[in-house]
Amino acid sequence: MASFTLQGIPVSRGIAIGRAHLLRPAALDVQHYLVAQEQVEAEVLRLQDAIAQVHKELQAIWADLPQDAPTELGAFLDVHALILSDPMVSEAPLDIIRTRHYNAEWALVSQVDELSAQFDEIEDDYLRERKADIQQVAERVLKVLTGSANAVPRSDGIDERSANMIVVARDISPADMMQFRDDAFTGFVTDEGGQNSHTAIVSRSLGIPAVVGMGNASRLIEQDDWLIIDSDAGVVIVAPTTQVLDQYRERQSQLLRQKKKLSKLKKTPAITQDGVEIKLLANIELPEDTAHAMDAGASGVGLFRSEFLFMERSGHEHKLPTEDEQFAAYKAAVTGMKGRPVTIRTLDVGADKPLEVSDHQILNPALGLRAIRYCLSEPQLFMTQLRAILRASAFGPVKMLIPMLAHSMEIEQSLALITQAKAELSAEGIAFDAAIPVGAMIEIPAAALSLPMFVKKLDFLSIGTNDLIQYTLAIDRADHEVAHLYDDLHPAILQLMQMIVSTADKAEIPVSICGGMAGDIRLTRLLIAMGYRELSMPAALLPEIKQAVLNTRLENLQAPLKRILRSFDPLQIRELLAAMEQAG
Ligand code: PEP
Ligand code: MG
Repeated sequence: MASFTLQGIPVSRGIAIGRAHLLRPAALDVQHYLVAQEQVEAEVLRLQDAIAQVHKELQAIWADLPQDAPTELGAFLDVHALILSDPMVSEAPLDIIRTRHYNAEWALVSQVDELSAQFDEIEDDYLRERKADIQQVAERVLKVLTGSANAVPRSDGIDERSANMIVVARDISPADMMQFRDDAFTGFVTDEGGQNSHTAIVSRSLGIPAVVGMGNASRLIEQDDWLIIDSDAGVVIVAPTTQVLDQYRERQSQLLRQKKKLSKLKKTPAITQDGVEIKLLANIELPEDTAHAMDAGASGVGLFRSEFLFMERSGHEHKLPTEDEQFAAYKAAVTGMKGRPVTIRTLDVGADKPLEVSDHQILNPALGLRAIRYCLSEPQLFMTQLRAILRASAFGPVKMLIPMLAHSMEIEQSLALITQAKAELSAEGIAFDAAIPVGAMIEIPAAALSLPMFVKKLDFLSIGTNDLIQYTLAIDRADHEVAHLYDDLHPAILQLMQMIVSTADKAEIPVSICGGMAGDIRLTRLLIAMGYRELSMPAALLPEIKQAVLNTRLENLQAPLKRILRSFDPLQIRELLAAMEQAG
């Protein structure tokens, strides 16, 4: 096979080398995960049992057919029984479990997708329509399987197979991404998504190379193709030659050596050459991420995206995490950080992070009932979370961060609910930090332009640049078709960023950045020159940002900063930024 290269949007750093692991867009939405070698036969059995049960179900329906039932109905059942017995449906998925280690649902769906694609090519209308029958049969089997989901324990930890595999998909849902975390794949390639889509965020926080927004990679790449992801350049090399493979292996080991060198800085505080300390914190999605944060030498957690606790709930008794379950997770994060502050953001669902229980149809998700808007419309759900966060604050320093605030009444309502949660806990004699700092995410342009509304009522601010850019430039952060317009160096963004830090400084309210700009090494000098002293980022990026801080002399940056902020020419801004790199 001839080698070819595909271009996409780089979303994390590094190089990954491995075989393609295709995640077909399934019409049927199922869980995707890999089963460990020793569980393969149990998984095969699970699928065989489900198929046998559907056979029985079909027979029972046959037996119960009323005398006067139309003959087509019987024929229809026969067709389904025939399909179910066909080795293409009953045997091929078993092979997929054995060879690719897919879970039963995934194996069945990927085989059905394969068959459906073949049916699409058939000229004969009647035969082509049998595709629907196959899908219906598969749905029946899936129903039985989901009833028995988690009957087989998932593979835990790194699986030898997954360690060399690169997931290739049209898109990966945040829920699937949470599954893949545990399977430790080597890299991710998706057709859709942008710089700050949530797939990108998770892969960055796992420190796994990923390229998104590739257009049609999942159609051009085939199962088991060798791939190289160069995520710094945003390219994927398909079927590389041995020579190219060797070059990349060499670069990969170079990067590894560099990483090892940087890890020596773990205990060094991030202080510029002229003595200004920059606090570097970590963004986490789950409590277990605190281990990476500590490893990277983070001075705390600047953003705990609590919504990930609310996603991917299969296998849990409740569709939403209970107060106790949330409390346990927040407490685990607090104790994991060993006395360093943990900023827990309240639920930010909606847009590209849908909640499974919500059947709410949103017209324009990014502009709809998202984050605090959703929480205020579901006060019971919000109260449960507030209580859990407050309870965790008895175990170490916790800050509470509210996403997507834009209106004064949202601030007031949030604060009133926090007061109510505190009163409830006090009445119940449950401990919490009565002085817990409450902060606002500044991520809607309206918020950035009305900071005085925030500074009086809140204790700190944290800028969500991912959304701030999305809403300022009117670019959907998850849409690869407009990803080239998503520009953190747009003069409007730079002006806003400077304005926020200056206003916050004047009002003497601490301000940090927890969006993607904080972990972008191209921008480190620019941001600290503007006056930012707290940056929160994926732990994997922290060491190199620290290195940049250590190499910076702030007093040299003031003149270049002024020139950048005076320019409204994107090309010139880039040149000036490069000059700032030289200025040290
Ligand atoms: C942001 O918007 O920059 C942010 C940090 O929040 P999220 O990416 O989770 O929306
Ligand atoms: Mg946001």
